[in-house]
Amino acid sequence: MATVLLFATTTGYQTRAFGEAAERLGVELVFATDRCNVLEDPWRDGALPIRFSDEAAATAAIVDAAKARRFDGVLAVGDRPTVIAAGVAERLGLAWHPRSAAVAAGNKRLTRDRLQAAGLPVPWFVEHPLMIDPDSIARLPFPCVVKPIALSGSRGVMRVNDGQELRAAIARLRTLLESPDIRGERNPAHQRILIEGFIAGREYAIEGLMNHGTFDLLAIFDKPDPLDGPFFEESIYLTPSRGARALQRAIAAAVGDAAAALGLRHGPIHAECRAHEHGVFVLEVAARPIGGLCARALRFDRRQAARPGDPIALEELLLRHALGESSLSWTREVPASGVMMIPIPRRGVFRGVTGIEDANATALVTAVHITAKPDQLLLPLPEGASYLGFIFARGDDVTDVERALRAAHQRLAFTIEADLQMLQSAHG
Ligand code: ADP
Repeated sequence: MATVLLFATTTGYQTRAFGEAAERLGVELVFATDRCNVLEDPWRDGALPIRFSDEAAATAAIVDAAKARRFDGVLAVGDRPTVIAAGVAERLGLAWHPRSAAVAAGNKRLTRDRLQAAGLPVPWFVEHPLMIDPDSIARLPFPCVVKPIALSGSRGVMRVNDGQELRAAIARLRTLLESPDIRGERNPAHQRILIEGFIAGREYAIEGLMNHGTFDLLAIFDKPDPLDGPFFEESIYLTPSRGARALQRAIAAAVGDAAAALGLRHGPIHAECRAHEHGVFVLEVAARPIGGLCARALRFDRRQAARPGDPIALEELLLRHALGESSLSWTREVPASGVMMIPIPRRGVFRGVTGIEDANATALVTAVHITAKPDQLLLPLPEGASYLGFIFARGDDVTDVERALRAAHQRLAFTIEADLQMLQSAHG
């Protein structure tokens, strides 16, 4: 039985989906997971506990484990383990992104450097120490974007329009980067910040697979909500894109070029880009697939199958790919598909939600998952790192899918109460 080594940030939905896909394929899965991040406990025998914050020890532990068992393929989901997975793949001779490419993809400054060196469009950018005196740099061409170098999910990313906003944003980013959970990552990149020009335009997310250096586009997602700041919360993803064919071709070419410039070679990639009249700006290319539950928005059919079977999940496609199958024999299923990542509207304690049944009953809606836990403290962006939940819809027409997602969202009513800190500051 073939064995795939799967590096995963948490043991949530996506690891279960991989488990199901592995069972269907008759593949053995061995998880390598940071036990500090375990939220629930679906541990199977043979899971390899590692610390994502200690790359050398984690790599050594996996290489050691590989002396006793053979791994035929490797995969990583989530942002933090991608570099460790790449280092392990290099040591074990498994096809994957090179470690140097995974490092560059996970570092917004290195990403800008590599794209610029390849002659690809990038906004102007400058890197500063976290402790920079904002007054010393207040004469920037505004608007611009202040961001951490190595966080993801838009955490800490803020648009600023003048010197005063710049000062406030830097102070806010400092507080975030010095918070215990981020310090715990022990990443020196968290001591620096990036400031870059704001790129106007529509935003798209791209899912793809690199096949030994060749980019294969799996899906372009439109992000129909304007993302003009000051914070950049993801909400709706829709595919197929409603963009003109020429634009879609330009997006695919830009992402393929950016992946090549970063050196990404084999395995999943997830990119974000902005398009306007001067071209397509790739903001980032992550060396991993679309995150967690959102992957459910993608299913694949075998190309030119004589008898079409059931579509397969992204996780199954990734396992097949990790074991040497080319992604070119698969294509995204025909129906339009969309997901809404339900944004956290304000800080507070989550007490509950009503209307799930109604939301679920909305035409075209296929699932509503509330992932916020009762009594959880909810933090919106730019500090937060989660959503209230996810709504999925499928249909013949992508505009109807978008409408269904919005209608279902309106049927949900969330109770969010002020937390202690808010009450204290309200009372002086
Ligand atoms: P992350 O890895 O945290 O997602 P990104 O650098 O991709 O960080 O930024 C997150 C979001 O912030 C982007 O998807 C985009 O909406 C917005 N953003 C980031 N940089 C820029 C920029 N230079 N111009 C306009 N919007 C930006």
